[in-house]
Amino acid sequence: MKLTDLFKKNDTAKSEPLLSEAEAEALSEPASENTAKPDESDKVKDSEEETMVCPKCKQVFDKSVLKENLNVCPACGNHFVISPERRVRYLVDQGSFKPLKCKVPFVNPLDNPDYEAKITSLQEKTGLEEAVYTGVGKIDGYETVICVMSSKFLMGSMGIAVGEKVTNAFEYADKKKLPIVVFTASGGARMQEGILSLMQMAKTSAAVEKFSKHGGLYISVLTHPTTGGVTASFATLGDITLAEPEALIGFAGPRVIEQTIGQKLPEGFQRSEFMVEHGFVDQIVPRNKMRETLALILRLHSKRGR
Ligand SMILES: [Zn+2]
Repeated sequence: MKLTDLFKKNDTAKSEPLLSEAEAEALSEPASENTAKPDESDKVKDSEEETMVCPKCKQVFDKSVLKENLNVCPACGNHFVISPERRVRYLVDQGSFKPLKCKVPFVNPLDNPDYEAKITSLQEKTGLEEAVYTGVGKIDGYETVICVMSSKFLMGSMGIAVGEKVTNAFEYADKKKLPIVVFTASGGARMQEGILSLMQMAKTSAAVEKFSKHGGLYISVLTHPTTGGVTASFATLGDITLAEPEALIGFAGPRVIEQTIGQKLPEGFQRSEFMVEHGFVDQIVPRNKMRETLALILRLHSKRGR
């Protein structure tokens, strides 16, 4: 019997929630009131309009201006969602990036009737195989393994495929003795794959541990939003943890925490700035400084120096 059969034959598994309330809330509360929600950014991309309004500062500007400015509002610095391809294009030396080959067959362990169609439609819409994009490229001459999660692909949720792709990237970096940079964006574990999603937390964490024991450098970059099982596994295991400004970073959503502890949460709770003050994040790096910051860290940790 295959592992997945255990879940298919258990009818109760379909009616009982497989994720904790915290995980479910993290999935349903991806964005905040004052930063770009992935859906809003979708509207920016899909709409026929040539101008747009920043949801944070209400300034109206041309969409081409936003595009030229790395999807950052030129007036207030609000960081909109950026596609993995564009992020990679901005980060790496021209023509140096090659995607890692890691094809993971589709699985539907809970026999969710709409799941396969949903994945196929997202693959067509985003051009991505799954919620994480992995490859190797040079950042200012330093060859680096790069993983970028996409919040537009089922809220960047981690199922079997994401777990395998991230693990594969760490194993590749370990084998080739390369540093790795991971940009996280996730609502947490993927509910459609039940407990098998939660197992990816252990799998990816073990891959990071092995890589780390062999002396590899892992730089984690937390982007909006990084929550749930991804925060509770590889996202927070970096040797150096960076974050984009005002990114939501946490495990459970603020409502669940307030109900659990019976207290009002402080201002700015679970934002990058709060996380730096409390030692959870090493530095906030705006998108236009990301390439030079990563290049500096890579140079400092490189044996060859320059
Ligand atoms: Zn703005």
